[in-house]
Amino acid sequence: MTQQPGKTYDVIVAGGGPAGMIAAIASARNGADTLLIERSECLGGTATSGLLCNWGAFDNADRRHDFTRMRLYEDNQPWPDDLKNEGERIIKGIPEEMLIRMQNVGAASKIPLGYISINPEYLKIIADQMVREAGAEILYGISAISIERIDREWIVGTSSKCGQVAFKAKQIIDASGDADLARFAGAEVVTGRPGDGVMQPPTLVFRVGNAHVRESDVYLSLGKAFRKATGRGMGCWTPVPLMPGVFSINSLHSPGVDACSPWDVSGALENMRNEAVARTELFRLHVPGCEDIFLIDTAPSLGVRETRRVVGDYTLTEDDVLSARKFDDGICRYAHNIDVHLQDAHLDKLKDHGFVPAGSDYHIPYRCLLPKGLNDILVAGRTISATHLAAGSSRVMPCCMAIGQAAGTAAALSVKMETSPRKLPVDVLISTLVEQGACI
Ligand SMILES: Cc1cc2nc3c(=O)[nH]c(=O)nc-3n(C[C@H](O)[C@H](O)[C@H](O)COP(=O)(O)OP(=O)(O)OC[C@H]3O[C@@H](n4cnc5c(N)ncnc54)[C@H](O)[C@@H]3O)c2cc1C
Repeated sequence: MTQQPGKTYDVIVAGGGPAGMIAAIASARNGADTLLIERSECLGGTATSGLLCNWGAFDNADRRHDFTRMRLYEDNQPWPDDLKNEGERIIKGIPEEMLIRMQNVGAASKIPLGYISINPEYLKIIADQMVREAGAEILYGISAISIERIDREWIVGTSSKCGQVAFKAKQIIDASGDADLARFAGAEVVTGRPGDGVMQPPTLVFRVGNAHVRESDVYLSLGKAFRKATGRGMGCWTPVPLMPGVFSINSLHSPGVDACSPWDVSGALENMRNEAVARTELFRLHVPGCEDIFLIDTAPSLGVRETRRVVGDYTLTEDDVLSARKFDDGICRYAHNIDVHLQDAHLDKLKDHGFVPAGSDYHIPYRCLLPKGLNDILVAGRTISATHLAAGSSRVMPCCMAIGQAAGTAAALSVKMETSPRKLPVDVLISTLVEQGACI
């Protein structure tokens, strides 16, 4: 039976991943009575439930030099002049506040390299604190499963151990990563690449302990030797701050899996858990410094790169990304290269092999957050309106976080100004974001 609490929230955010947690903070700080519902039992999404201990860059430096910089840094060698440019910090505002809080307790790296390794346990705690300090309510263990429009309110149906409970709100932010609510509300969605709809494979991240290797060697000498011995790559190894000898490993791809299908996901999880054990054994046998490693854990949730994207008022394209295009309604900037894990992605055929020109960045237009034809609902995170290739860049976590700040601010301003996000004057949104520290 559906229970219906009487209260109407100003804003409901569905999903507390990188986009949703920041959206909830921004919404509440801008005065909206905000409810964040999260189907798992922590915030952080792929960074915590997916154990992906690595935030992409907050700057716009040339990503091609990251490994060389890392090697020199680990060797205690100075960077030559052409590698010294670390770029401009382009992700600021609430994501940067969260980063600084993480760094202040040693839970995020301060190394001047593009990407930032993070400790997922501390992220859970700090994200939770920041959302609550902003005044938003969090409900864990609750999934948004339906949505209905009655008069000027949304009724969001949820499923939890209480059965089905409905919540009312004036504005919705869909930060589920899968466009769950937008799709239920009638938004057009697309999946995968044009033509055949093939999506990037998901990955089950796992962690090992007692590893005595240098990160740069994984990408250089150790990685090459391991491939020669086993025919496999070592994947990406991220050292977890505050956990000496612990690495989170992103190496198990599961092609052909639709991460929105419980059947596909269940099979993939079983295979990849077994594979994590087998891979740990291979590392132990073939990687010097890993003789005594042990498997700590596999991630509680599958790491999902790509599922549904909404079709919005504007669709970000690969040309926008690669030509560092700016828009009048740009709400944040980003610069990560197009990162698509499909063997036939042909990124080499893209301009500059999919890299954004060094020192520049592209805008995410506000219109990418507005599902075409729907009012009073915004999307945030990897599910925004972007082509398959463009999403290969915009899906990276700092970008999702910055989009989250824009979505939360837009939703709260819409409530305050008694308008809809589509009619919200974009100059008001942008000036509010800038006043509140965002970099546009
Ligand atoms: C293997 C892998 C490696 C990656 N590497 C990097 C990297 O090195 N650096 C980087 O910055 N990014 C990386 N990414 C990309 C990045 O992690 C994701 O694109 C990003 O996390 C997307 O953020 P999001 O908030 O949109 O979605 P998610 O992180 O997927 O979060 C969505 C949240 O919504 C919740 N949710 C889903 N449905 C519902 C519902 N119906 N009701 C309530 N809650 C719901 C989920 O539980 C989850 O907490 C990687 C991704 C993967 C999978």
